[in-house]
Amino acid sequence: MTTKSAAAAARATVYGYPRQGRHRELKKAVEGYWKGRVTADALRATAAELRRTTWQELAGAGIDEVPTGDFSYYDHVLDASVMVGAVPERHRAAVAADPLDGYFAMARGTQDAAPLEMTKWFDTNYHYLVPELGPDTVFSADSTQQVTEFEEALALGLTARPVLLGPVSYLLLAKPAPGVAEGFDPLTLLDRLLPVYAEVLADLRAAGAEWVQLDEPALVQDRTPAQLDAAERAYRSLGALADRPRLLVASYFDRLGDALPVLAKAPVDGLALDFTEAAAGNLDALAAVGGLPGKRLVAGVVNGRNIWVNDLERSLSVLGTLLGLADRVDVAASCSLLHVPLDASLERDIEPQIRRWLAFARQKTAELVTLAKGLTRGTDAIASELAANRADLASRASSPITHDQAVRGRTTAVTEADARRSQPYPERAAAQRAHLGLPLLPTTTIGSFPQTGELRAARADLRAGRIDTAGYEERIKDEIREVIAFQEKTGLDVLVHGEPERNDMVQYFAEQLTGYLATRHGWVQSYGTRYVRPPILAGDISRPEPMTVRWTTYAQSLTERPVKGMLTGPVTMLAWSFVRDDQPLGETARQVALALRDEVRDLEAAGTSVIQVDEPALRETLPLRTADRPAYLDWATEAFRLTTAGVRPDTQIHTHMCYAEFGDIVQAIDDLDADVISLEATRSHMQVARELAAHGYPREAGPGVYDIHSPRVPSTEEAADLLRIGLRAIPAERLWVNPDCGLKTRDWPEVRSALEHLVTAARAVRAEL
Ligand code: GLN
Ligand code: ZN
Repeated sequence: MTTKSAAAAARATVYGYPRQGRHRELKKAVEGYWKGRVTADALRATAAELRRTTWQELAGAGIDEVPTGDFSYYDHVLDASVMVGAVPERHRAAVAADPLDGYFAMARGTQDAAPLEMTKWFDTNYHYLVPELGPDTVFSADSTQQVTEFEEALALGLTARPVLLGPVSYLLLAKPAPGVAEGFDPLTLLDRLLPVYAEVLADLRAAGAEWVQLDEPALVQDRTPAQLDAAERAYRSLGALADRPRLLVASYFDRLGDALPVLAKAPVDGLALDFTEAAAGNLDALAAVGGLPGKRLVAGVVNGRNIWVNDLERSLSVLGTLLGLADRVDVAASCSLLHVPLDASLERDIEPQIRRWLAFARQKTAELVTLAKGLTRGTDAIASELAANRADLASRASSPITHDQAVRGRTTAVTEADARRSQPYPERAAAQRAHLGLPLLPTTTIGSFPQTGELRAARADLRAGRIDTAGYEERIKDEIREVIAFQEKTGLDVLVHGEPERNDMVQYFAEQLTGYLATRHGWVQSYGTRYVRPPILAGDISRPEPMTVRWTTYAQSLTERPVKGMLTGPVTMLAWSFVRDDQPLGETARQVALALRDEVRDLEAAGTSVIQVDEPALRETLPLRTADRPAYLDWATEAFRLTTAGVRPDTQIHTHMCYAEFGDIVQAIDDLDADVISLEATRSHMQVARELAAHGYPREAGPGVYDIHSPRVPSTEEAADLLRIGLRAIPAERLWVNPDCGLKTRDWPEVRSALEHLVTAARAVRAEL
């Protein structure tokens, strides 16, 4: 394929870049500031230096237009709240006294004022702080951050484009402030918000901004006619402003759907659209509305949220098609590069051949520059890049790592029966009752016990060679003994080993499965100063040997009571990793499920009668568009059942999920066919128990009665009251007693009293039955 050169030179750009710096300088500076070890000035200087380095690196690599305003000390949605003056009442004094401390108070809370609620940014693992709005919200413009950062880039002689969260998405991501009626719709504040955006745009224009990007990712979700109408009004109004910068409205993560014609017709100067697989449909939809005559199109052809090298020829062919649909086509990553690590070339532990398959932020930047060059000057101008890219793609496609015939053979041979328990639930339940002999309202925990300083020190000692594997394992065993002894003494019915050997519930398994890659420097922001290193599902997945059996059987050898085996489920393994893009997700899930199925069987064979397969991420990977959800839930529930269905009827399968809203997936929870499910329920006063009952959920459930996100220890009465509420929805024969989630983030003293109260509460309520 040869692309003729485009009329205008295509520019390469990005919407955002990893914020933390090569050595996570930002995390260190911010946390140092919180601890009083770093001054505000030093923190600001570090931040400015990181921005400068990033822009110069981007410009040096050939990015024509660098983003500004994407940097954040904590979160860009919180920054937007500051920009529009939406500071909750309870934080106003702090913000007035010191804007920086007030900012962190909103993010993290103080003794007297709760932080803003945190929730996931669409279907990514980034978390944002939810704006709190009400009918009395008064917005006021504060363009300081946006203008300052733009001027910094300008002073470096760069062409920069400020990036702001758009007004419609800002409101759609908000929720009613505490004390405001649930029914309040933040979108009703649009007319009040638009003048504030107009002011910020005017300030940026005055500072010299030619283009400003307004991000509207919320428009890729299903939207009502009223919401689409709000988008139409917003951009008609902003478009009509006199003396404004040119407006680029950006969307990503999925297709725009009904919002596409709305934005295409709006009097703005350009659209940035996602053209990756995740947003399939945008290209046809754009052609269907007749393209964007007179407008600039920024084409997100390089996936901004996975870590795979781009198929440059395929991208060029998409770009070639787009040339016919807009006045000018520029090249971008599909979304901010915030969601990928910085630099794959730092991963010296990954074989060079495999490292070439990876593209982190820096490599993606290079891809964008190559694509822009190819689009402008024709493919001959990038012949050597294309050849190298073809070789990398071919090496990945033909590698034995991505094509393990044994694994492939097994997944193709999977039958419907493999994903079905051998007996229906009622018969299994009877067998399990006989086998386990548990009391009514059995008590248990979700798996982890406090990850103490000693445990972390033991891992650090092992890494540093101060102790050997045997020494490390002794420490883990000491911990298991303590955890088992405590649970016996406290009177819990189904025990756990406490997961002391696990650094992280996904990484622990990823490290032991063939086909998974771990990174050393692949940090990605999860929220605030918390960064994670998601492992990479790179090849076909197999399990060379058992992963957990040793620890579970050791724990079981210490007690007569059942010890629950503990695994992370296939959906969560995918959700918290970088996934393959060369096969359907369902296929990858099936491979992981089969590996876990072997672990489940080995646990059973070693005498484990209760096995829990955690799926806390089942709901969070739900596709953004409702139309795409059934297909996802299909493969997701199949993968769970494939993991668990191979056991005897009298082996009890548990699962666990932790989030409050799952009204929309009750059917999927039912389809998992787990014998017992534990769920977060304390804060919602057992709402989920009522939802399960309303659905007619037929199996056992443990709605949590101990909120583990808080250091507060619930009293026996509180726990007992919650149980009584639970009993109104779920009969005693099917109700379990447990905390909301694992205890790894809590301290031993809290955990001790909380679990004692939980057991006492269960006994008291049992006595009432
Ligand atoms: N078994 C895990 C634990 O207890 C579950 C964690 C989770 O749900 N996120 O830590
Ligand atoms: Zn949980």
